[in-house]
Amino acid sequence: MKLVHFYLFGKSCWGALQDDGETLQLLEGNPFDGQLTPIDRTLSLESVRLLPASSRPSKIVCIGSNYRLHCEEMGKPVPAVPILFMKPPSALVAHGEAIRLPPELGRVDFEGELAVIIGRRARNLSRDAVAEHVLGYSILNDVSARELQRSDGQFTRAKGFDTFCPLGPWIATDLDPHDLELVTTHDGVVKQRSRTSDMVFPVFDLVAFISRHMTLEPGDVISTGTPSGVSAIAPGDEVSITIEGIGTLSNTVVPQ
Ligand code: MG
Repeated sequence: MKLVHFYLFGKSCWGALQDDGETLQLLEGNPFDGQLTPIDRTLSLESVRLLPASSRPSKIVCIGSNYRLHCEEMGKPVPAVPILFMKPPSALVAHGEAIRLPPELGRVDFEGELAVIIGRRARNLSRDAVAEHVLGYSILNDVSARELQRSDGQFTRAKGFDTFCPLGPWIATDLDPHDLELVTTHDGVVKQRSRTSDMVFPVFDLVAFISRHMTLEPGDVISTGTPSGVSAIAPGDEVSITIEGIGTLSNTVVPQ
């Protein structure tokens, strides 16, 4: 199922995208409290304003250097254990919303990534217990200001600006995340093409690893790292990330 988070009549709602890819079956409730009931109403996807594909995550945990070729292009070693950092939930924007570039920030890159959306509180998980704690998968653009990333030595400022975390267009449930094609286009030109099977640390290992360090709450987001091919964005550009079985996350870039 594809779970769509959107804005309707002043509140956030959830719907299930139907097989035609255009119709939303409205759902009552919230996927993060385990209660979603179909109600007798449909809407066209085109008529609603999408919201980021989670709801008030307590945290967005990201993985650095999780594809060998990306480590190579960044001149970094392949890590022996997953490298974790976080983006603030205030950076989230939806599919179709603009990435706003503050002035004089230097080089800012897109990073196309598979995102895990947590469905049930998770702590000290074994790898085998991960699937039942995951609601589904989405697409995240880990927008990164490279010069700040290097000069700060910490990622919080470089990756934490408002709008630097597009997430969407929706959540795909019932998906095996371990061998999906990921393609990023920049103004229509393919810049990243990889498979999630190229990850240094596979998705379920990452979720289990993180849950041994911090409790994961329903709605929390884990972004699993980017493949090679990252490149700089500027106002007027459009970045689209497509992941097999999920869909396409597209965002334009504007000046702040
Ligand atoms: Mg990243």
